Amino acid sequence: MLERARLTRRELLRAAGAGALALTFRNLAFRIPMAKAAPAEAAADSAPALAGVLVDYRNWEDVYRKQWTWDRVAKGTHFVNCFYQRGCCWNVYVKDGIVFREEQSATYPATNAEVPDFNPRGCQKGACYSQRMYDPARLRYPLKRVGERGGGSWKRVSWEEALRDIADRSIDVLTKDGPEGITWDPGGANQHGCDAIGLYRTSFVLDTPVLAINQEVGDHHPGAAVTCGKIIFASSGDDMFYSDLILIWSGNPVYTQIPNAHFITEARYKGAKIVTIAPDFNASAIHADLWVPVNVGTDAALGLAMANVIVEENLLNRRFVAEQTDLPLLVRTDTRRFLRDSDLSAGGDPEVFHIFDRASGRTQAAASRTLALDGVEPALEGQYKVKTTKGEVTVTPVFELLRQRLKDYAPEAAATITGTSAETIRDLARQIARAKAATYLTQSSFGRFYHGLEMERAQILLLTLCGHIGKKGSGITGFAYLGLAGVDAFYQASGNLPPKLGIAKLGAANAPTMLKDKFAGHSAEMILCDLARAEHARGGLVSASLFFRKHGGLDSYASAKKYDPWLKREFDDYLADALAKGRQFVPKKCPRIFFAVGGNILRRVRGYDKLIKSFLPKLDLLVTLDWRMSNTARHSDYVLPAAGWYERDDITWSGMVAPFAHAITRATDPLAESKSDWEFHCLYLKTIQQRAAERKVLEFADRGGAKRRLDQVYDNFTFSGRYTENNPEELLEEVFSIAGNIGGTTWKAIKEKGFERYTGVGMSYATRTNATDIEPGETITANTWHTRDKMPWPTLTRRLQFYIDDDVFMELGEELPIHKDNPPIGGNYPLSLTGGHTRWSIHGMWQDEAHLMRLQRGAPLIFMATEDAAARGIRDGESVRVWNDVGSCQLQVRISPAVRPGQVIVYHGWEPFEFKDQKSHRVLFPGPMNPVQAAGGYYHLQPAGIMGDPGVSDRGTRVEVERIAV
Ligand code: SF4
Repeated sequence: MLERARLTRRELLRAAGAGALALTFRNLAFRIPMAKAAPAEAAADSAPALAGVLVDYRNWEDVYRKQWTWDRVAKGTHFVNCFYQRGCCWNVYVKDGIVFREEQSATYPATNAEVPDFNPRGCQKGACYSQRMYDPARLRYPLKRVGERGGGSWKRVSWEEALRDIADRSIDVLTKDGPEGITWDPGGANQHGCDAIGLYRTSFVLDTPVLAINQEVGDHHPGAAVTCGKIIFASSGDDMFYSDLILIWSGNPVYTQIPNAHFITEARYKGAKIVTIAPDFNASAIHADLWVPVNVGTDAALGLAMANVIVEENLLNRRFVAEQTDLPLLVRTDTRRFLRDSDLSAGGDPEVFHIFDRASGRTQAAASRTLALDGVEPALEGQYKVKTTKGEVTVTPVFELLRQRLKDYAPEAAATITGTSAETIRDLARQIARAKAATYLTQSSFGRFYHGLEMERAQILLLTLCGHIGKKGSGITGFAYLGLAGVDAFYQASGNLPPKLGIAKLGAANAPTMLKDKFAGHSAEMILCDLARAEHARGGLVSASLFFRKHGGLDSYASAKKYDPWLKREFDDYLADALAKGRQFVPKKCPRIFFAVGGNILRRVRGYDKLIKSFLPKLDLLVTLDWRMSNTARHSDYVLPAAGWYERDDITWSGMVAPFAHAITRATDPLAESKSDWEFHCLYLKTIQQRAAERKVLEFADRGGAKRRLDQVYDNFTFSGRYTENNPEELLEEVFSIAGNIGGTTWKAIKEKGFERYTGVGMSYATRTNATDIEPGETITANTWHTRDKMPWPTLTRRLQFYIDDDVFMELGEELPIHKDNPPIGGNYPLSLTGGHTRWSIHGMWQDEAHLMRLQRGAPLIFMATEDAAARGIRDGESVRVWNDVGSCQLQVRISPAVRPGQVIVYHGWEPFEFKDQKSHRVLFPGPMNPVQAAGGYYHLQPAGIMGDPGVSDRGTRVEVERIAV
């Protein structure tokens, strides 16, 4: 018999890595740190991470047998921005105080007997998180920079030491520079529950701005914002089972929606036709019945060409168009502006629009409080005479103008732009028109194009013309989001009141009553959008794209006029106009302290290399709270270790696609000295309060000039000590007790079960715009409140609005949807660089994870067409230099016949430290902004946190590629 051994787990794993045992212990050997690409500094002091964990094995057979034993199983998921697929319930197995594996729980019920269920949910990233959380990239102790920023030299400090210094410097900035001197980046990882309350309540108590990053990352759906007045709406994944035509267009769900992709296949088995529209034969195209190739950046032309077919062949759903859209609204032919009440009488309302009613034979005001036609028959065609205060004018419905515009996109003409045959365009348009329920499986790709606004508009127009919106199995998709009602009420509830009372006074649930007089006639959905706009205007939310443009050194770098032949003026001229008129907002001063609490700006921001040169030197202090050594962490002054996703209690928000709230639970204690985000925020404010009292610096002026007590910030934050770093679960119980959209479940119950299905969209800005009921036994179809209940859309005209008579839109010829060629951004080079979220990571989180790197050759890759590689003498696997006018970088080439000639692809998420000279492909993006996205002003174009301000473009940036001689 072998002698009984008492080994630490690390020692055991080291042993397991050797010789023949490695094979036998294959499962456990996965835990041997292998991520060579992780920065060395992350591993500093990492060795004792697992020390002290005693594993009692007698021999190798014991190790094998005992791998299926555990001390406890907790529920968990990943607090990561996996977005549309977001939220999968896992069983998390704990032994000897460490998580040693996870397994999909697969206990989701089917919505009803007709549709497939959501099981099993998960992806390969989640399946290896138990290994990721212990690998060398994991941060374990607070670190303070010594030497130059980014130099890689660190000193281990205590939390007390770090917090005291950060708090003292925060007090100095708050009192000398004001709250604008501190800015928070929530990134994509910032979530729901305690995590979000921690950040946004800190921001509220200190009056410090938080970056709104949606536009900067390209998730702002500019075409949806312009057309629908909102961007958050999506149907549940199982609703696809009622579709007979599914168009995967502006997305690659087989890469990016791994837990949901089975619904596509299941719908196909039921008889739905799957069409993928993309330049390359991507992973989703492989599973489609039809792949429609389209040249990079020409999707608007394709959409408008199909719309042309539908209009010319009279295949449109006229009743739907007349009821739901602005296409019957009358436009003056002299000014090309909408006919408004203010044209007809002195003092008339400029926001009342008109139609010609064929039933009564006269023009009349279009209803604004309902979409119900109630016997009115709005004309879509014709010209009519109207008497205005300044004489008689001719008016015509928007539809007539649209028909004229669409004539530019006859299929043969569009074929030369798109590379898609006229026959395919006609055929697909007819299929869409004849489908019982056609739906888009759309993600956020178009928002990353310079003319992405027009791509989305054309896409939405196409399904709208056929009435495929807001009915089961059909629809358009924006940004998918669903969360617990009432979480956001904690952000700004008064610190002197118990939360429920505070919420009653100030919370979103009561907002419609508060603003009733000011916004008479607005639906609750509109009022919540109005509130978001007010918060944006107040400066609580700051457009990250404009912020980095102004303060990050990107302003001189990203000229739009240089590339866009439509522009007579520079982007900055348009922006100056918008700023002067209060239509866009950007802080005048650069902050002195910047907190990255969920974000990674030095990977994420296009032109991040410019931030290193121009933004970081302006900062007194850059603090990163993260569980891994990201590129931003590497350049920070303090790096604070965050608890992992199996080491804290909280809830996640979901995408509507999978309409479940998920619990993450504290399966095990936070590794080493890591702390949850909630705990960090509590301790940060506690230290400010203590230091303010000790230093007798008792007040600061908020952005409105009012005095606030510094020696009470922790009391305010914690609701007078009610919810502190010590009782996050009580806070979660409170959150669930006020959430009216989760079927009355409690934190305790969801912690046991792992998930719960939402029962309603609630009364938050970010959820209500789904505009639909969530009924037991029914799949969820977005926007039925508009189509079924006739609730107006939250736009200026209260309809799906395809005509925008704003000055900027008119100046740029974009009052109606249009195709514009993708400009030669980056310079006159032959290849168009595109991207997409990767299959092997969520942003940078797993991008240096050893097992996942093995699946993609272990190095940053550029995908290239066979013909393009051959023309340049490049062979598969070789290193290449990629360059344009603004930068260059080095990648390994992967040659693929699936890539369209003229296109090259670099998928998302690579960290700069994985590249030679730390230069990632994001140094190639000048990222010009399109001024049409900065128009603001016009009611529903105003910035509202997640939409309404300009995005940064990267798709289709021009580059050249050459082999690097060895
Ligand atoms: Fe699911 Fe996201 Fe976790 Fe993958 S990373 S298993 S998609 S929650």
